[in-house]
Amino acid sequence: MMDEERLLRTEIVARCREMNANGLNQGTSGNISARWGGRMLVTPSATPYDAMTPESIASVVLEDAGGAYDGPLRPSTEWRFHRALLCARAEAGAVIHTHAPWCTTLAVARRAIPACHYMVAAFGGNDVRCAGYARYGTEALSDLVLEAMEGRTACLMANHGMIVIGETLERAMWRAVELETLARQYCQSLTIGGPVLLSDAEIEDALSAFAGYGLRKA
Ligand code: 13P
Ligand code: ZN
Repeated sequence: MMDEERLLRTEIVARCREMNANGLNQGTSGNISARWGGRMLVTPSATPYDAMTPESIASVVLEDAGGAYDGPLRPSTEWRFHRALLCARAEAGAVIHTHAPWCTTLAVARRAIPACHYMVAAFGGNDVRCAGYARYGTEALSDLVLEAMEGRTACLMANHGMIVIGETLERAMWRAVELETLARQYCQSLTIGGPVLLSDAEIEDALSAFAGYGLRKA
């Protein structure tokens, strides 16, 4: 294995542990993938993150709709939406799916996040949509996720959780933390009468201010 691939595998494992340590996920729920050339490196299914090693990560051929993979363990049951997002979104280098508590609170109520805070612009538009429900691991779920992610870098998933994409794993994790924070703030605002929403023009303004925010110079 090339050193660079090993580094990326090591970062995936570290990000998995990070998302469980910082309350973004729990147990063996959630999964992470990163683009590696014409492949995606993706966490194995049902594997405790403490026990995961760089060698446990599955390598899935992006071109193959059947999910052909190399590795000692089966890839995440959600390899379909990871693959679909990496194929459809050339700018995406990483995908993170978690069952983050506040995002999932909204998702079980099938509520989108409206423009309640300028940070909604970090996800590409004036809301974060909630994808419709289909059973975990299915092509139907992958299709619904792709639709909800149109023009966005995140979505909630009905009765399930959330997904973010990023140019890198670091950017995807930044978004995951911000999305969970936004979801908590929105839920809490609902308990005190609901938010005052920003206008489309205000979100447009935040979107242009956001272009390139936090991106390092090459
Ligand atoms: P995996 O353990 O197969 O990745 O599944 C976890 C999950 O969150 C399914 O949606
Ligand atoms: Zn899940």
